[in-house]
Amino acid sequence: AAERYAALRDKPAIARCGAQVALHMNAGIMADLPSLEGSGAEGVGLFRTELQFLLRNSMPRRSELAALYARVLDAAGDRRVAFRTLDIGSDKVMPYMNRPEEPNPAMGWRAIRVGLDKPGVMRMQLQALIRAANGGPLTVMFPLIAEMGEFISARDILLREIEREARLGHPLPKSLEVGAMLETPSLVYAPDAFFQLADFISIGGNDLKQFFFAADRENELVRRRYDGLSVSFLTFIQKIIERCAEAGTRLSFCGEDAGRPIDALALAGAGMRALSIRPATIGPVKELILRADLSEVAQIIEDAKQQGLDSVRPQLVSYVRSLPP
Ligand code: PEP
Ligand code: MG
Repeated sequence: AAERYAALRDKPAIARCGAQVALHMNAGIMADLPSLEGSGAEGVGLFRTELQFLLRNSMPRRSELAALYARVLDAAGDRRVAFRTLDIGSDKVMPYMNRPEEPNPAMGWRAIRVGLDKPGVMRMQLQALIRAANGGPLTVMFPLIAEMGEFISARDILLREIEREARLGHPLPKSLEVGAMLETPSLVYAPDAFFQLADFISIGGNDLKQFFFAADRENELVRRRYDGLSVSFLTFIQKIIERCAEAGTRLSFCGEDAGRPIDALALAGAGMRALSIRPATIGPVKELILRADLSEVAQIIEDAKQQGLDSVRPQLVSYVRSLPP
């Protein structure tokens, strides 16, 4: 199979109906970078910056981070890297940072909430990113944005840091894309102005699914209970696609589910045209998309809605079995 996937490396994921699905990879440590070449990823759709903070016993310095981000950008060459600012709290705890005990950490003081309440670390990180971009393009996204005001505040912090760095003599990024991770259902109903302001939206499927079904992604008793191929979840995804299309906002989906070929196919059938997944899953996902017709998958989803089903998984499994090799 490895050889089959290697042969597909430079081939775009174009389904039989002609629709193309952009496949990007998730990364977070230096060891991920060689996969950029090996997997054929178009870019890094999610760079989880917190991993660098979690792997250490003390807070990294700005210069260390800047050097690291510069290496990432260097390895990526012309490919886009979406750096997600620090997403700590919940399942990701930094041992050297004082945190309150929380009864419900997934819904607690985490991600952008920490970044906005105590902006010191996020600002340092943004400075490091601006320096690493060194006059080249820069793409930044903020995790767990739940309402427009949080996005505006986070974006303002970034714009202020860019001005400050420019005053210090660092070059301005040649182009800047500022995005929000959509991980809470509330953001789907944010004002139009939010979708217009965001340069792109990246669905954090792991968290979005957790909050959509109220099922803790860390809890073995419930984490597999609800299916990413549920008709309600796919309908919700379609609502997001529609809102982004209305505003002309670039949209992608990152989240572990999308690394499973059938799940990726369902998302593509629902209308997602960009996925960011683990590099090792790009080959299998691409192989299935190449064999499928996304308009047929869209029809299967519509039929499941009409029939009042909870999940389209059985239908999609038989569809995939019926496909020519
Ligand atoms: C997600 O929530 O789907 C996501 C991509 O971010 P993380 O898994 O790091 O929370
Ligand atoms: Mg998340």
